[in-house]
Amino acid sequence: MDETIALVARKIKTSKRLVVFTGAGISTESGIPDYRSQGGIWDKFKPVYFDEFMSSKDARIRYWDQRLEMEKSLSKATPNVGHMSIAALHDLGLLEALITQNIDGLHEASGIPGEKIIELHGNTRRVRCMRCNRLISWQAAQEMIDAGHRAPECSCSGYFKPDTISFGQAMPVEETQRASLLASKSDVFMVVGSTLLVQPAAMMPEYAKTAGAFLVIINLSKTPYDTVCDVLIRGKAGDVLEKIVAQVMH
Ligand code: NAD
Repeated sequence: MDETIALVARKIKTSKRLVVFTGAGISTESGIPDYRSQGGIWDKFKPVYFDEFMSSKDARIRYWDQRLEMEKSLSKATPNVGHMSIAALHDLGLLEALITQNIDGLHEASGIPGEKIIELHGNTRRVRCMRCNRLISWQAAQEMIDAGHRAPECSCSGYFKPDTISFGQAMPVEETQRASLLASKSDVFMVVGSTLLVQPAAMMPEYAKTAGAFLVIINLSKTPYDTVCDVLIRGKAGDVLEKIVAQVMH
């Protein structure tokens, strides 16, 4: 393990374009459950698809109820040692970009500047009107819910929805293109805490590897890329990243 950590640290130190790609697994140590692990979000809830959200008030209420349930952990969550270790790589001038599937805003809270972060699935701390595109804060939406609107609506009568990508909803074009380009130009691509099952996000390691990047995967369970990556570390994101950064700074 120590040798593997040392190898990854050396690769990062000499890299010119390090791209880190994170999934829900980096935030479990902040108390936010992931989706697919046992006890994860899909064990408790049935996902609401985008077309259901747009066509049924019952589905919108179910969606917002799920979001409120998530708020119990989200409102208390702060960046953990894993997020802070990636921020440390940024501070050392070693991070080209961070691509995340997460919607919790914890990377920005760790101090990495917003322009270095690509949120492929949006951010649940803001809320968007599905008709006029107006953005409001989570707090403003919460006030409407507290006032009895279980599925809040905009003054234009459009439906408010957390600014995240639901199943069946189109991916953001600009973010997806930027992420694909960064992945295919990276020389070290490090995946942290993702099953790498959700498309098109899961294509990013493929772009990186095909272009010749050194591919590192840090994850507690299996991914489809385990046999093609250069280094596979089965460990907790926080512990592993902390050790890697310590070696980089050594
Ligand atoms: P996922 O739930 O499919 O997979 C998470 C992976 O992380 C699993 O393979 C698990 O074994 C691993 N893991 C869990 N804790 C870990 C830890 N401490 N260290 C290392 N690995 C750990 O999540 P995904 O691949 O990101 O994709 C699911 C979708 O879920 C994404 O689209 C994302 O938008 C959404 N999501 C986001 C959050 C969040 O923002 N925090 C939470 C849940 C789901």
